[in-house]
Amino acid sequence: MEATSAALGVIADDYTGAVDVAGVLRERGAAVNLHFGVPADEAAGAPQPDGGAVVVALKTRSVPPDVAVAQALAAARWLRARGARQLFFKYSSTFDSTDAGNIGPVMDALYDETGLAHSPGPVAPVLACPAVPGYGRTVYQGHLFVGDRLVAESPAGRHPLTPKTDSDLVRLLSRQTAAVVGLLPRQVTAGGEAAVAGALAAMGRAGVRYAVADAVDDRDLAVLGAAARGHPLVTGAAGLAAALVGHLPPALGAGEPPAGLPAAVVSGSGTEATLEQVRRFSRLRPTFRVVPGAIARGDDVVAEALAFARRHLPTGPVLVSATAPPEAVRAEQQALGAERAARLVETALAEIAAGLVSLGVRALVVAGGETSGAVVGRCGVDHVVIGREVAPGVSWARTAGPDPLWLLLKSGPLGAPDLFAEALPGRAGTGGVPGGGMPAAAVPARGAGR
Ligand code: ADP
Repeated sequence: MEATSAALGVIADDYTGAVDVAGVLRERGAAVNLHFGVPADEAAGAPQPDGGAVVVALKTRSVPPDVAVAQALAAARWLRARGARQLFFKYSSTFDSTDAGNIGPVMDALYDETGLAHSPGPVAPVLACPAVPGYGRTVYQGHLFVGDRLVAESPAGRHPLTPKTDSDLVRLLSRQTAAVVGLLPRQVTAGGEAAVAGALAAMGRAGVRYAVADAVDDRDLAVLGAAARGHPLVTGAAGLAAALVGHLPPALGAGEPPAGLPAAVVSGSGTEATLEQVRRFSRLRPTFRVVPGAIARGDDVVAEALAFARRHLPTGPVLVSATAPPEAVRAEQQALGAERAARLVETALAEIAAGLVSLGVRALVVAGGETSGAVVGRCGVDHVVIGREVAPGVSWARTAGPDPLWLLLKSGPLGAPDLFAEALPGRAGTGGVPGGGMPAAAVPARGAGR
């Protein structure tokens, strides 16, 4: 057991966030395994890194708090049974939650689960810090900023399911828990690890259970990470997780799909960033467009997409995309209802992804958080090992076993415009693809007349 135990167990509240944190840990040199959902029992033979990090990806950001708590507890128990000595609860760098949760309720449950609630003496508070300075997410005086705006005043604050109306994390977290929430201000963190340790001890004696910690740059996070290293529970986004890595043993091997593996891109994200990525890649490679209206009227879009893929895969990767400009998406949503349009697209893309794998595709780029969840579920992937980080927050991952499937799961906003070609070097453009890259004009986009 000791030889296969994990030092750090991460519980992530969504899939792409899990890939993000796993990639960051891997980039810092740690061996990282990622499980989608709480593994059933012993995850039948899944290899575990020797003392590295194990990430369990949940989808609990917008579910009722009791469901989120139950799943987080199941993940925590599984991780602890595998030897995780420290748990990290990973939420988004915009602290996605509502007054009802789910960050506070999950923290409360993990606080109990790790035994902290029953400690005989005062306990240093659990850190809560969503800062990821590299993405422009910083915390100052307990207030969360996105770039130069408070989160509640930023575009990131206008989320349909988890709108951010309060940028004061102490106040916000206090509404989600009955426990005492305090602030570890930057003035303390600037004094280094000893100053932080002293302040946390004093807060613990004063009955503070959670400390919202300021961090405006990676140095602040490094100080917090060092101070939190021995603590059984830490919470935050990928920035603080990365700062905990120093004590984990390094990973072996690099980790990206070898050139020449059959590859495809499946996109269901609706962000501007993905729209541009799709536009660029569709100039390089044949593209099949999935349109919700066509699925709704009974076209066999899955079969059409797979026939298209069968024709074009021999020359390099294909792109299957539902990503469309906002006006087009709005029109589809008006015609079908937003929820129905989304489900139709997700189901079709997941079905197409599974079909692509059956056709021999072994390197699959998936754009979109929900889309990634649907694809991973439909392809029956429950466990991956993290490989090379292609862009901040976007890393290759591969399934275990002799004929692995490589996945690059990308959250909507992430990645530069040429991400898809960069992720599939030597395959996408004119270089390295047997038969040459095919001009997009030679293969009109199809799949319901757009
Ligand atoms: P992101 O990470 O960009 O938010 P997601 O995959 O999480 O991407 O969410 C995008 C949602 O939009 C998915 O549910 C997807 O099925 C839906 N969708 C994608 N394309 C269309 C379209 N053309 N019309 C309507 N809905 C779409």
